[in-house]
Amino acid sequence: GRVISPVAGLEELVTEEKIRPQYLKDYIGQPAVREQMEIFIPAAKARGEALDHVLIFGPPGLGKTTLSHIIANELGANLRQTSGPVLEKAGDLAALLTNLEPHDVLFVDEIHRLSPVVEEILYPAMEDFQLDIMIGEGPAARSIKLDLPPFTLVGATTRAGLLTSPLRDRFGIVQRLEFYNVPDLQYIVSRAAGILGVDIDDAGAYEIARRARGTPRIANRLLRRVRDYAQVKANGSIDAEVADQALNMLNVDQQGFDHMDRRLLLAVLEKFEGGPVGVDNVAAAIGEERGTIEDVLEPYLIQQGYLMRTPRGRMATKLAWNHFSLSIPDEKK
Ligand code: ADP
Repeated sequence: GRVISPVAGLEELVTEEKIRPQYLKDYIGQPAVREQMEIFIPAAKARGEALDHVLIFGPPGLGKTTLSHIIANELGANLRQTSGPVLEKAGDLAALLTNLEPHDVLFVDEIHRLSPVVEEILYPAMEDFQLDIMIGEGPAARSIKLDLPPFTLVGATTRAGLLTSPLRDRFGIVQRLEFYNVPDLQYIVSRAAGILGVDIDDAGAYEIARRARGTPRIANRLLRRVRDYAQVKANGSIDAEVADQALNMLNVDQQGFDHMDRRLLLAVLEKFEGGPVGVDNVAAAIGEERGTIEDVLEPYLIQQGYLMRTPRGRMATKLAWNHFSLSIPDEKK
């Protein structure tokens, strides 16, 4: 896979558990999120109530799952985890809900992928802590109502626009995660290095942070790959030079872009003269799925100002032309 894919691999989930922050004080960056949660959580606790339902949105790898763990820890509650595509039938969700203890946190990743029947069950569960299900079929079918313990639903999604509005309206707290700045990522890299016992200096951590696409998961993964390189080539110590050499070897360029980013940008620049071009055309040109482009590839390119989303499609910016040392066509100047 891509070394800078923001999506976790299986092997990675294990290491991630070791370095995942457990409490708000270790949740680096995202000052607005932290400030609000540092008020909402203790307030709900002091009232002896379940915390309002929380919707977290943001690109993969920015800390949605981590925040859900932290919410449960800070509340002193259990965390139950599931995801939209896993809950196929109404009964799957009903089983989870009826097993909750008061004030527990139910984390539903990829909540935009819930099936409509499951979503229907969720509405009264979220609003009135009531389970409304049909049992049996045909003339013998009847609906039963069950009281649920008060609980907190934490839903995560890559883009808020993917949610139906009745679902979105049922979240009292909505948190949008932003890409991390370099100093915050540098801190995250240093902290992870401490936990993993990796010898790294400030400049080395800075070099990794700078090329990690604003994404903690990528920063932590680059740290592990640079560690391998340092072990074999530099007696295990990471400084700026070792980090730079390792990242060059991994084809992560000075901007933190890899071959996928370059392909995307070059397609827009060369095949579509810089755009505007519809995302479906870009997808066809580079053989990627539209969803991958929208969720994984372009958010960072847009945030960094290489690509723009316009009503007529994607457009490359001056920065993109310059990045590849291409001259901007006259009519685009
Ligand atoms: P998402 O659910 O958004 O895909 P995760 O919550 O799984 O992302 O985060 C990926 C990894 O990045 C985590 O294992 C954690 O170590 C690290 N991470 C995420 N957010 C933070 C943060 N705010 N501070 C420190 N580390 C973080």
